[in-house]
Amino acid sequence: MSSSVNNRTHVLVIPYPAQGHMLALLDLTHQLALQNITITILVTPKNLPILTLLVNAHPAIQTLVLPFPSHPSIPAGVENVREVGNSGNYPFIQALGQLCDPIIHWFRSHPNPPVAIISDFFLGWTVHLAHQLNIIRINFYSVGTFLASLNDYCWNHMDSVRSSLGVVEFHNLPRSPVFKQEHLPSVFRRYKESDPVSEFVKDSMIANTSSWGWVCNSFEVLEGEYLDYLRTTIGHDRVFGVGPLNLVGPESTNRGNPSSDSSDDVMKWLDECPVGSVVYVCFGSQKPLQRQQTEALALGLEKSGVPFLWVVKSGMTRQAEDEYGSVLNGFEERVSGRGLVAKGWVPQVSILNHKAVGGFLSHCGWNSVLEGIVGGVMILGWPMEADQFVNAKLLVEDLGIAVRVCEGDDTVPDSEELGRVIAECRNGYGEVKVRAKEMKEKALAAVRNGGSSMTDLDKLVQELRKLQVN
Ligand code: UDP
Repeated sequence: MSSSVNNRTHVLVIPYPAQGHMLALLDLTHQLALQNITITILVTPKNLPILTLLVNAHPAIQTLVLPFPSHPSIPAGVENVREVGNSGNYPFIQALGQLCDPIIHWFRSHPNPPVAIISDFFLGWTVHLAHQLNIIRINFYSVGTFLASLNDYCWNHMDSVRSSLGVVEFHNLPRSPVFKQEHLPSVFRRYKESDPVSEFVKDSMIANTSSWGWVCNSFEVLEGEYLDYLRTTIGHDRVFGVGPLNLVGPESTNRGNPSSDSSDDVMKWLDECPVGSVVYVCFGSQKPLQRQQTEALALGLEKSGVPFLWVVKSGMTRQAEDEYGSVLNGFEERVSGRGLVAKGWVPQVSILNHKAVGGFLSHCGWNSVLEGIVGGVMILGWPMEADQFVNAKLLVEDLGIAVRVCEGDDTVPDSEELGRVIAECRNGYGEVKVRAKEMKEKALAAVRNGGSSMTDLDKLVQELRKLQVN
């Protein structure tokens, strides 16, 4: 990559305040800062600590801290979707849209204003903002490119997609996928005609399509056909696949997560387990299971007979915490020695890279997917909501690096069957495991010098440099 210094290329980065969206954009920002792009990151006050790692690595990065705009559906003091769950996305998108005027004010008084905005795809209103400022907007897709393609299609063909009964056939997309209505991206399904918040979200999503460029947290070997689909559909080549971004961030094992007291215990426990023997079970940062699901999973893990590490999130269960406790009480004793239940937050990236871990029972959130790939472990998918059904289809059907063990937010799996599927992890799934290991190598290759993601990143930087104000 060229190392010529050009401090005049100034970019405004606007992350969307949800863990899964924010960290990947900060990883990208780290790469841009390494290339001497001048950067300002817009955040609201309570999200400022999430930038600590990045700003410590690059003291030159500026922050634009603006108050979180009030919204009737967002409790006062809440500034991150994590605090309210995915149902908070619609009001968050609309609330953040109110930042336009303060941004314009900041821009007009800046001695070296930005030439581009890079913002999350949940912030499509920034296309209009960029127009007003006469600069470009780059659409950052923090999730998969299959999802990006499908999401873009859905919003731009809303009537036909919504009127398909039961299942929707996407003949224009690569491999003509078919999805049940309830498996389409949640952000699309939540739309209600004439509801002002929905209409704002719709306008934002459709505006995304006319962004000057797209940056996707994915890579050519993983989702090349979807990157190409986007290039063809939107009619230009400024679609950059630069992932897995977790490999090129300021610190690839600490993903801006709260430190965990149980980290040492968990890693020591894994050290004692045979290579590739452990199934790691975790459903992301914000997904509580229902009581019956917890029971079925506990029983399935018990019946499977395989070593496992199960992360149970406390403080955000769908029922009183003591009920969770009562499900797990006898269980922990019964499986002691073979299984470990970790309560709270664990260092997922380190776990997935531990040699003892051979399988990952996951909800298929995009960060977990990429981290699982980089760990070289096969995924046992249980998609529940959001983009997860689309991700699971990619992993299971397109790539063959995962199997599906359950499906749906409210589904209670059959514990016998679940136990059998998990048990097979011990000696079965030979080809799936081989392909998962191969995909790891391809992911690592993509972010090496000369790899597809580094090449795309280089192209993006060159494009940004061309935009400098003369
Ligand atoms: N994560 C973690 N420890 C936990 C739970 C989650 O480090 O105990 C991290 C995980 O590594 C990933 C993120 O939280 O980076 C979850 O993101 P994902 O997109 O998989 O799911 P979401 O939480 O957005 O549903």
